[in-house]
Amino acid sequence: MSLLPEHLLNGYRQFIEGRYLQETQRYRSLARDGQAPETMVIACCDSRAAPETIFGSAPGELFVVRNVANLVPPYTPTGEFHGTSAALEFAVQALKVKHIVVMGHGRCGGINAALHPDTEPLSPGDFIGKWMSLIEPLAQSVAGNDMLTHSEKQTALERVSIRMSLANLRTFPCVSILEGKGRLSLHGAWFDISTGELWAMDAQTGDFHRPLVDVDPEPVAAEQP
Ligand SMILES: [Zn+2]
Repeated sequence: MSLLPEHLLNGYRQFIEGRYLQETQRYRSLARDGQAPETMVIACCDSRAAPETIFGSAPGELFVVRNVANLVPPYTPTGEFHGTSAALEFAVQALKVKHIVVMGHGRCGGINAALHPDTEPLSPGDFIGKWMSLIEPLAQSVAGNDMLTHSEKQTALERVSIRMSLANLRTFPCVSILEGKGRLSLHGAWFDISTGELWAMDAQTGDFHRPLVDVDPEPVAAEQP
């Protein structure tokens, strides 16, 4: 009898004999004192874009919610099943995180689905279609631009939808109030799976830059006459 697939058991064995041994004290104090992550990451379910891997995070450092295409729905207190909003509420109100990062990624299947809404649903429920309709107007405007190639449309929608999710985050009163008080900052990021490059969004312009590459040179001091 196998309780779990063999590759998962092998991975767990490596963890408990390796990383857990090295970080036993950290795990014990996290268990005793509770978690206090300073950062929430909203990322895609995609197996290639795991925030803990990309940011090299230790246990207890990142509070992560993942959904298809890393979308944040607008504040809608309708009494339905809002998993992402529930995670957001906990991160902001209970954990009092200081940063929220919406991280998208290249080659996102959810974004691709949004660009091709006429594709046959994967199941009668069409959950992906319904979820991705959150960015339908954006998807239509990008898809309808014939000047863009397919891959340009894909990247454009991946990035524009991050800006939309940041705008939706600000529709949550708890987010906008704390951001106004300077106790919470919002960030956008986009991970290029093929090169490993991380792009971060400039909060003022909305443009994406590679923080380790596209660093502005220090301003040159004017020469004294
Ligand atoms: Zn994705």
